Amino acid sequence: MRAKNRPLIAHFALLVAAFGQLQPASASAAVSAEAIAADPLQAADRKLASVTLPLLRQNARLCRIFAPATGLVLHSRDQYTNPTFERFHGDSVLAIAAVAPGSPAEAAGLRTGMSVLSIGDTGPEQWRDANVTPLRDAAYASLFAQSRDSLLVVSDGAAARTVQLRAPLGCRALVEVTTESGLAARADGRVIQVSYGLVSGATEAELAVIVAHELAHQILEHRRRLDLAGVRKGFFGQFGGNLAANRMAEEEADRLSVHLLANAGFDPDIAPRFWRTGMGVSLGSGLFRNRAYRSPDDRAAFLDREIDRYLGNGAGPTYPGHLLIRRDGPIIY
Ligand SMILES: [Zn+2]
Repeated sequence: MRAKNRPLIAHFALLVAAFGQLQPASASAAVSAEAIAADPLQAADRKLASVTLPLLRQNARLCRIFAPATGLVLHSRDQYTNPTFERFHGDSVLAIAAVAPGSPAEAAGLRTGMSVLSIGDTGPEQWRDANVTPLRDAAYASLFAQSRDSLLVVSDGAAARTVQLRAPLGCRALVEVTTESGLAARADGRVIQVSYGLVSGATEAELAVIVAHELAHQILEHRRRLDLAGVRKGFFGQFGGNLAANRMAEEEADRLSVHLLANAGFDPDIAPRFWRTGMGVSLGSGLFRNRAYRSPDDRAAFLDREIDRYLGNGAGPTYPGHLLIRRDGPIIY
């Protein structure tokens, strides 16, 4: 289930997780407590963007749909139940939630907290007209349509200025932090979501393993292929042919993930190592995933074999044609 919006209630759960006992005594205290809660979420957005950027940029060759790999994380006012929560200047509807360190966005002078007034020749009016929620999605569509070079008008709350953002093309994926405090990661074919609990609790290497696995699902077009095969999600995914197909998709994603990691400059061995840790085992034991692998050790051993066979030197570049060719066929199980 997607959590497009970041509901206020979840923010309070997050607040308690981050700061322990914060009991706002009045309405105005509640507002300032909300403002404090923005910071851990911003840090999580930045951390996830930082890990994601090399995965998207350095695996472009493996993808079929592209977007400039900017390192820019946008958020819109309509993602929040209470618009006073985040720092949206004045009546601006779109702002920068995070900028990945060392990214093209950072080099262009873009900073967290800036309002985005226009992207190319589109602004709030066009984004609203697109009739998608959150509005951020329409803004990203504008950014993605600009190819490698785009002009943004931004404001830090005072003067507006035009910024030229140049970025190489990478894989197209929206990657975002949800406010869930538990451990969760999912990909619906378009958006990759990682829970706040996971982003804040994992090391950058562990987070790279998680994002690489979800990105692998997207690159291998699993949602489309599973739908085509009539495979059921959720509870019924645990049984019979559904289980076998879901298991195959998980195995394909795991195998591709080590190639994505190697291309992005990570040691692919971090994947089998992570899936043996407590966090990895816990994350891998979702509704049907607990049956998608016989044991965490089997899963890790499976990854070790992929690395031994195709990534003997432990580094990229690698072009895993043996896995990518499966995109054009059905899920075979
Ligand atoms: Zn998976």
